[in-house]
Amino acid sequence: MRDDTRQWIEADQAHCWHPFTRQTEWCGRGHEPLVLVRGEGAWLWDSEGNRYLDGNSSIWTNIHGHSHPVIQSAIRAQLENVAHTSFLGFTHPLATELARQLCGFFPPNTLERVFFSDNGSTAVECALKMAVQYRQQTGQPQRNGFIAFANGYHGDTLGAASLGGIDRFSERFRGTGFPVQHVTSMADLANLCPDSIAGVVIEPLIQGVNEMRPWPAEMLGELRNWCDANGVHLILDEVMTGFGRTGRMFACQLEQVIPDFLCLAKGLTGGYLPLAATLTTGRVYDAFLGGADRAFYYGHSYTANPLGCAAALASLSLFNSEKTLEQLPAKIERIATGLAGLRSRHPLVHEIRQCGLIAGIELRRPDGSHFPVAERVGESVCFSARAFGLLTRPILDTIVLMPPLSTSLEEIDHAVGALDSALSAI
Ligand SMILES: *Cc1c(COP(=O)(O)O)cnc(C)c1O
Repeated sequence: MRDDTRQWIEADQAHCWHPFTRQTEWCGRGHEPLVLVRGEGAWLWDSEGNRYLDGNSSIWTNIHGHSHPVIQSAIRAQLENVAHTSFLGFTHPLATELARQLCGFFPPNTLERVFFSDNGSTAVECALKMAVQYRQQTGQPQRNGFIAFANGYHGDTLGAASLGGIDRFSERFRGTGFPVQHVTSMADLANLCPDSIAGVVIEPLIQGVNEMRPWPAEMLGELRNWCDANGVHLILDEVMTGFGRTGRMFACQLEQVIPDFLCLAKGLTGGYLPLAATLTTGRVYDAFLGGADRAFYYGHSYTANPLGCAAALASLSLFNSEKTLEQLPAKIERIATGLAGLRSRHPLVHEIRQCGLIAGIELRRPDGSHFPVAERVGESVCFSARAFGLLTRPILDTIVLMPPLSTSLEEIDHAVGALDSALSAI
């Protein structure tokens, strides 16, 4: 190992605290974290000069590949002007254009307002607070709770976390956020009294953190109808599914559903900078007009950060100039074929779940029973895949394969091949 690599690891283990990480292990003897130093296209390099395909799009964020010259030069051009200005009391050209373009994805008089923030959690947090305040200002203050789906994940700020349906993440903080009722399916909604509900929150088409589990077809349309019939807002968390990941620009477009709130983050800047957006309707927005007591008192220091907006606009322009969506069907097909082959060759591959360029490969024992969690089989396979030039992470024993949308067919083959080798190796 190079001296500088060793020094970075020592400083990390002495001072850094990583997300969702057992620090005892991370800092344990013999653990040598990869130090990532460079990226180009779908590839990342570590400080020792090894190259890996970015199999989970740098935690589901990257869209057009790393170090894309168009996104880089857009960020640089804005940097020549100014890196950050306050959106509280001022505006700036790129935010105005980005808001216009985001609303332009939806028919007129539907989603027509954009509230910027920093990440997926704040995009959701903001939708929840807007939804509750909307009820207070439209004579329905008793509607202050939410419906969320079991095993859903909507982020880690307190409000977003109160929606969280995954106990190992959220149970410690239960009771601290909004009142939330969890349901598992559309059928559960029938038994529920909606009188105290402001909105229902869902990850459309596929739940990500819940081991990449797709919803039944047509469900989103049914949920929209249920919301309309019961006077409940539909809040879509497209933090993972947005920006082409499912094959369409937004997952909701696949079922022709328009929500009352749309939460966007991860892929908004192409995966270059932290920026988020909460879109809502003119109808919601109008309830905040009037005196000071009706304003939405919410915001973050870096709201609408100009560098982030520059990256986002460049990313959106690439969808046109590189015909990103047009090329997805062949890639989606290539992943499906590759993973089907994996399943036929490896008895440990129990199920493949795929929605567009999002795939989960669930491993179980050949008899169909789960591996004991403590064996951490998914982690072993991902660790082993590094040696074959693939970086990704599992969720329990489901291996995520979700490369940047720009990944070529040959690179997809490389990723599947690396998983194949890793499965053979363990
Ligand atoms: C990642 C994610 C979030 C949280 O976004 P952060 O940027 O990590 O705060 C929320 N919802 C979904 C569906 C996500 O995948």
